[in-house]
Amino acid sequence: VASHDAPGLSPIIRKKLMGFVGFANLPNQVHRKSVRKGFQFTTMVVGESGLGKSTLINTLFNTTLYPPKESLPPSAERPTTVAIESISADIEENGVRLRLTVVDTPGFGDFVNNDESWKPIENRVNRQKIVDNRVHACLYFIQPTGHSLKPIDVEFMRQLHTRVNLIPIIAKADTLTDEEVADFKARILADIAYHNIHIFQAPTYENEDEEAIAEAEEIASKIPFAVVGSDKVVKTSDGREVRGRAYPWGVVEVDNEDHCDFVKLRQMLVRTYMEELREYTNDVLYENWRTEKLVGMGVVQDSSVFKEINPAIRIQEERIMHEAKLAKMEAEMKMVFQQKVQEKEAKLKQSEEELYARHREMKEALEKQRLDLEDKKRRIEAGRPLTPEKTSTGKKNRFLRT
Ligand code: GDP
Repeated sequence: VASHDAPGLSPIIRKKLMGFVGFANLPNQVHRKSVRKGFQFTTMVVGESGLGKSTLINTLFNTTLYPPKESLPPSAERPTTVAIESISADIEENGVRLRLTVVDTPGFGDFVNNDESWKPIENRVNRQKIVDNRVHACLYFIQPTGHSLKPIDVEFMRQLHTRVNLIPIIAKADTLTDEEVADFKARILADIAYHNIHIFQAPTYENEDEEAIAEAEEIASKIPFAVVGSDKVVKTSDGREVRGRAYPWGVVEVDNEDHCDFVKLRQMLVRTYMEELREYTNDVLYENWRTEKLVGMGVVQDSSVFKEINPAIRIQEERIMHEAKLAKMEAEMKMVFQQKVQEKEAKLKQSEEELYARHREMKEALEKQRLDLEDKKRRIEAGRPLTPEKTSTGKKNRFLRT
C-alpha cells in the first residue's frame, strides 16, 4: 500500500467485501443509475493518530482497506506529520461497485503548534473539488475525553464545515460508560452550536413514509456517533462470534446497537444518505466554495480551472470569446472601409487637381489668344501692317525703316 504517493494518485486496491454493507440496496429511484454504473464516494477521516481511524474504516467496509499497523515494516511507519494520505479501494456488493477513497491525516494534532495544521486538509479538499473527486463526507474523530471539544477540534471544524459534510464521531466509545457518552454528546453538540459549526443534517422530505422519517430521526438522535471499531472476531459469553473488543468484564460488540452507534453511522453513511451526502457536496458546498473563489479572484481570471466541470462558466467564457471575435471582425471591417475611403479620396483629389490644371491651361491659352487678338486689333487700328513679314520678292518693306 503506497499511501505516501503524491496526493491524488492514490493506488486503487480491489477488495471483496466480507460481509453485507448495504450500498447495493440504496433505496430510491435516484440511486438506480449510479448503482448500475457503480459509483464513487470519497470519505475523509480526520483526527489525532491512535484514535482508531484506520480500524473504523476497516470495520465500516468490513475489509482491510488499511493494513494493520503491526504488519508494516519499521521503515514504512506512518509519518507523524499532517501530510495527507489517500487510499482508494473498489469494493463490490451484489455486483455493485463502489469506489471508496479515504483521505487520512496521520499525526494530526501531534504538533505543539496546531494553528495552521488544517491547511493541508483544506488544500486537499479544494483540489479534490477541482478534479471533481470531491470529498463527500468527513468523519471527524473526537478523543473520548468526556469533557468538551478541544480548541484544535473547534478550529478544525470551523475551517472544514463550509467545505465538507462534517460528521462528528466520538472515538473509542468503549472507554466511556453509557452515562459518560450521553453527557459527552450533549456537551459536544452544545459546543458545535455555540461555535456555529454546521454538521451534516439529513434532509427532511415531505411525503416520505413514516418508517423513513423514523429512521432519519433515529440516526439524527445519535449524532455525534459514539463508535467502537474492531476488525477482530471475538467470542461472547453466550458463545456467539462477533466483531468486537473483549474485556475481562465482557465483550463490546461493534454491530450491537445497544453497545455503540456504529450500525447507525454505517447506515447513515452508506445506506441512507450516500446520495444526499453526494448531492449536498455538489450542489451546496461546492457551489459555495466556487462562488467564494470566483469572487475572490475575479471571474475571468481563474475560470480556466473550473470550466471543465462547470458548464455555466464554460458557456459564459464561450460568449465572451464570441463577442471578442465579433468585435475583432468589426474592427477589421472598419479598417478596410477606411482604407477604401482614403483611396477614393486620394483619387478624387488627383482628378480634381488634374481638372484644375487643365482648367488653368485652357484659361491661360484663352488669355493668350485674347491678348494676341487685342494686339492685332490695336495694330489694325493704328493702320500698320499686321506683321512685319517679308514681301513675296524677298525685299524688305520700306515702311519698316521709318
Ligand atoms: P489511527 O491512528 O487513528 O488510524 O488509529 P488505529 O486505527 O491505528 O488504532 C490505534 C489503536 O487503537 C489500535 O491499537 C487499535 O486496536 C485501537 N482501537 C481502534 N479502535 C478502537 C476502539 O474503538 N476502542 C478501543 N478501545 N481501541 C481501539
